Amino acid sequence: SIVVTGATGNLGRHVVEQLLEKVPADQVTAVVRTPEKAADLAERGVKLAVADYSAPETFAGLFAAGDKVLLISGSEVGNDRVGQHKAVIDAAKAAGVALLAYTSAPGTLTAALADDHRGTEKALLESGLPYTLLRNGWYHENYTENLAPVLQYSAVTHASGAGRVSSASRADYAAAAVAVLTGEGHENQTYELGGDVAWSFAEYATELSRQTGKEIAENPVSVEAFTGILTGAGLPEPVAAILAGVDASVEKGELVVDSGDLSRLAGRPTTPISEAISAALKG
Ligand code: NDP
Repeated sequence: SIVVTGATGNLGRHVVEQLLEKVPADQVTAVVRTPEKAADLAERGVKLAVADYSAPETFAGLFAAGDKVLLISGSEVGNDRVGQHKAVIDAAKAAGVALLAYTSAPGTLTAALADDHRGTEKALLESGLPYTLLRNGWYHENYTENLAPVLQYSAVTHASGAGRVSSASRADYAAAAVAVLTGEGHENQTYELGGDVAWSFAEYATELSRQTGKEIAENPVSVEAFTGILTGAGLPEPVAAILAGVDASVEKGELVVDSGDLSRLAGRPTTPISEAISAALKG
């Protein structure tokens, strides 16, 4: 089987959807913690398995020898994600799966957010399992799903200076994962995944202005000021610090990925940020 964890998340849904275009539904297992959220998938013939990263026993017997597994990193930042992911890796090891692919972060990323990914990569390599590291760069949607304050204040506020981001859509990263899960020769490979085009926040503001017909300014601020703006908007201090840390990494160029791995695996160019903006403005 092809087994996908986090299948009811945003990325997981794209992965399952694209898998169903390539393989029969009964060869796909969606690992979910709330089966009600996956009723539509079950209806289409996808097998469901119920498990929680925080309860290792729920993964006992879930995998079978020869499975190809996609471990989608969890979203509970601060809740021992390395331990959570290790529970999945241990169960996969016990079963003797053929491949464990993990959605990581770019190798260049030093922001605190990368620590859990480095810890998980280490655990995966130490397990001795055949692995694929899908070092996903940033999602377009991190920006385009948060346009409300940008449109309200007509400003793109950031702490990234002139830094660039090679973001791509979740659907693009899903296509790379599907290529690895359904193709051959991806054992023990590390892919640095990012969009074909790296953009700056000045360019992002210009594109937003073009598409909305309104003047949207770029508003670069310091990391300290940005942290204050985020906490002022109601984000808890640790979350604000993590997000501001990402902007600092962007300024240093740590979210520019120029390997070409993503379009190569997907077999097509990545989605331009302009398309993600226009989809978000229509939605
Ligand atoms: P989502 O938050 O939409 O999905 C996270 C998935 O992880 C959900 O399916 C969720 O289950 C599952 N999950 C979380 N905790 C547990 C747990 N304890 N046990 C089992 N399942 C769990 O994120 P995306 O799909 O957008 O992104 C996938 C991952 O990529 C994120 O979890 C995060 O690690 C990372 N990420 C990457 C970004 C990037 O720009 N590259 C940006 C943001 C996140 P449920 O559906 O039940 O909630």
